[in-house]
Amino acid sequence: MVVYEAITFFEFQKKYYSDELCRNKLFKMRWSDGFICPHCGNKTYSFHSTRNLYQCKKCKYQASVTSGTIFHKTRVSLVKWFWIIYLLNSDKRGISILEVSKKLELRYATAWTMMHKIREGMSDRDSKYDLLGVLDMNETFIGSSSEGK
Ligand SMILES: [Zn+2]
Repeated sequence: MVVYEAITFFEFQKKYYSDELCRNKLFKMRWSDGFICPHCGNKTYSFHSTRNLYQCKKCKYQASVTSGTIFHKTRVSLVKWFWIIYLLNSDKRGISILEVSKKLELRYATAWTMMHKIREGMSDRDSKYDLLGVLDMNETFIGSSSEGK
């Protein structure tokens, strides 16, 4: 059995106060051992900051850390996305759409869509990301750890 322990508000705020920090986190989640081109497997890349793309130096394939995820083509700052994931998981009683929209200065409809996607993303086992990964929760194993993740 795995027990998760979330990081505190202060730790979270310190880690993810900019889009760049959030994107770096997604990068590490996708390529934990460093960049690997999804097209040719090459490991060198250059970063194009205008469009936030990682271009393979060999085949020129442009990879994005948000493609294939709930963050794909979002116009909302990743900081806000991360905060919703945090808020949704830090209070067992749950948080209302209205509360999220007020706290994060989002339109109600936008907050609704984002929360819907996050919930869907968290229940999707085939997702490329374990969304909870952004929370940097400490996994504590109790008893047998043979089940794996
Ligand atoms: Zn390549």
